[in-house]
Amino acid sequence: MAVRRTPSFVTEIPLVTTSEDLAVLTARLEAGRQLYNAVLSEGKTRLDLVRNSELYQEAKTIPRAEKKARSTAFSKAKEAYRFTEYDLQSFANQTAIASDWIKSHLDANTIQKIATRAFKSLERVGFGKAKKVRFKQKGSFTSLEGKTNKQGIRWTGDCVEWSGLKLQAIINNDPVILHGLNSKVKYVRLVRRVINRKIYWFAQLVCEGVPYQKPSNIINNGIVGIDLGVSTVAIVGDRKTIWTPFVPELASKQKKIRRLQRKMDRQRRAGNPDNFNSNGTVKKASQRVGRVPRLEATGLSKRWYRSHRYLQTAAKKREIERRQAAHRKSVHGQLVNRTLTFGKNIKSEKVSVQGWQKIFGSSIGFKAPSSFQSHLCRKAESAGGTVLMFSTRKTALSQTCLCGNKQKKSLSQRIHHCSICGLKMQRDILSAYLSRYVDPKTETLSIQSARDGWLGMEQSLLDGWQSGSKQSASTATSSKSPTPRSGIEWMSSNPIAREESEPRRVYETHVVSWNPPDLSVG
Ligand SMILES: [Zn+2]
Repeated sequence: MAVRRTPSFVTEIPLVTTSEDLAVLTARLEAGRQLYNAVLSEGKTRLDLVRNSELYQEAKTIPRAEKKARSTAFSKAKEAYRFTEYDLQSFANQTAIASDWIKSHLDANTIQKIATRAFKSLERVGFGKAKKVRFKQKGSFTSLEGKTNKQGIRWTGDCVEWSGLKLQAIINNDPVILHGLNSKVKYVRLVRRVINRKIYWFAQLVCEGVPYQKPSNIINNGIVGIDLGVSTVAIVGDRKTIWTPFVPELASKQKKIRRLQRKMDRQRRAGNPDNFNSNGTVKKASQRVGRVPRLEATGLSKRWYRSHRYLQTAAKKREIERRQAAHRKSVHGQLVNRTLTFGKNIKSEKVSVQGWQKIFGSSIGFKAPSSFQSHLCRKAESAGGTVLMFSTRKTALSQTCLCGNKQKKSLSQRIHHCSICGLKMQRDILSAYLSRYVDPKTETLSIQSARDGWLGMEQSLLDGWQSGSKQSASTATSSKSPTPRSGIEWMSSNPIAREESEPRRVYETHVVSWNPPDLSVG
């Protein structure tokens, strides 16, 4: 079945809901959740059967080069055990018909989309992209979507209609929203969000076309080299350089979250003293006793008593996490837009979050560097640009000088000062600059072009360094850079993870200009 794909974007609009509406929506969401879990469970069984089948094992032996034969063989195995999107959709239909309750709450299109959703998450396991599927607990299933804008959940211009429900939308004059409203709606998704412990519903209109582009964010056609570090990012375009702290605003929220996590841990220990060993570790599930009350209300683990105060702290933490995520999204988005005004042809090292976490601890994940990178790539590609993500090991840009000299730097050494040619430059900016000259085919640096480009770009790099240092100095008081965990080899040779030291307040502003030492040799 060939699916015609057109570009789409999402416009999110808040909805007005009365308490009756909320009750109906809650019931429908719960029906959706149960159906989703049922389909997921059935699909999981079928997937296991597929994987253990002879057909599948045979398909695996076909060499990867024979693409067509291989994929046909896999499809045959899947069809034999009815593990296809279509089969799961018909299973979902049967399940819904068998239960009057589900049938009375969901329409045919929504049921199909729930089956598709379950199928997709199972497919990820099948392809080895995920280790397991997650069944949705109460409260973690938060959206339902339609299939077309003709039946089921529909957008009618100023409200959402769905089997007897009519939810008025709150529309303002934001050009982003208006652009969405003037586009063709493919289908509508209803999303439930908890904001400050209150429930709100939003309509996400999945529209055909490309999202609104602010006039100030016009995408250019240049090349951009990026060096993304734990606490700073260097972005080098054809004429301009930015060197700026990487989402420093999020650090203070992270601190609050950590504090609440510790509080929750204390409250849990106080409420369940019998569930811990004398050395403070948690007892095995079979040994836990706990108290019985409130279990039904929380719907979670069977032997944990969760006090009222504990639940309050948990709600508080969730709210801060939600705000942090929203903030992160907007800060990332701004940085993406700013980068694309420099150019849509992106060249950057692959970020390895695991590499970072080895050195700084898992908490560094809150900055979500990979999500920033994929956001940037997605947007650059949809604007017709190119994206090159090369491996750090091959290029080792952070150790390379313009003269070709390779010098290992410790992670704390933030300035590149070549002992051979005397070049001095902030190390992230230099890496980002060199990224621009990585050859897409070989994924290696073509140093001659980097040298040729230097004279024209040097001033822009220096300007970026200088304005970045001023910025670091002003934010240094409000946010601290991460510090490496102790016990890790400090002079790590792992070039993926780099540490940013506390931003220095004073940089030398006069920088020795780089004179090509002996171009005849190079
Ligand atoms: Zn050098």
